[in-house]
Amino acid sequence: MRVLSVVTHSAEETRIVGASLAPTLLPGDVVSLSGDLGAGKTVFVQGLCVALGVEDRVLSPTFTIVHEYDGRFPILHLDIYRLDSFQEVLDLGYEEFLDPSSVVLVEWGEAIGPLLPRRFLEVELRQPGIEEPEDHRALTFRPHGAEWIAKVQAMRDTAETLLAAAAEETTTETRFFVTDEPQPPASRGRIAETGTD
Ligand code: ADP
Ligand code: MG
Repeated sequence: MRVLSVVTHSAEETRIVGASLAPTLLPGDVVSLSGDLGAGKTVFVQGLCVALGVEDRVLSPTFTIVHEYDGRFPILHLDIYRLDSFQEVLDLGYEEFLDPSSVVLVEWGEAIGPLLPRRFLEVELRQPGIEEPEDHRALTFRPHGAEWIAKVQAMRDTAETLLAAAAEETTTETRFFVTDEPQPPASRGRIAETGTD
C-alpha cells in the first residue's frame, strides 16, 4: 500500500489539504479520520466541506454524533468518539450512512473499523512531539482500494499547488512523502525526514 504523508504548519494548511481532497470525492466515498483530541480532524473536515460547497458551519459532531450538510453532494459527518460499542453505532443507523448517495466523513473511524467498507481512505493526524512547533501536524493518508490511490495522488497535486500559493516564502521543495510501508515511518512527528519518494 502506498502511504502519503505531509506535515502542515497551521490549521489553515490542514484546511487546504482537506480542500484538496474534495474534487476527488464522489457519493459513496468514505473517509475515516483518526488522531487524538485536538489533532485537527474537524479542521480537515472543515476545509473539505467548504470546498464541497457547504455553507453551514462545520463543527465537531461529538455531542450529536452525526451532522448532515448539503454540498455538491449530501455529506454525513460523524464523530463516534463517545460511542463505546458497535451496537450503538448500528442503532444510530450507521449502515444506512453507507448508502451510495452521500459522502461519509467519520472522525474516530478506527473505533468502528470492522463496520467500515472494504474501500475507503484512512487519514491519520498526529500532534507534534515536544520539541516541535505546536502548530505542526503530521497527516498520513492510507488508501484502501485502487481508486483511493489515484484520489490521494490527485489530492497531493492539488495540495502542493495550493500550499505553495499560500506559503510566505517561495520554495520548490515537496511537502509530501510517499512510502510503501503499511505503517507511517519512524517516530512521531518526524515523518517528513524519513520518507522517500
Ligand atoms: P479534533 O477534531 O481532531 O479533535 P480539531 O480539528 O477540533 O481537533 O482541533 C484542532 C485544533 O488544533 C484547532 O484548535 C486548530 O486551530 C489547532 N491547530 C493548530 N495547528 C493545526 C494544524 N497544523 N492543523 C490542524 N489544526 C491545528
Ligand atoms: Mg473533532
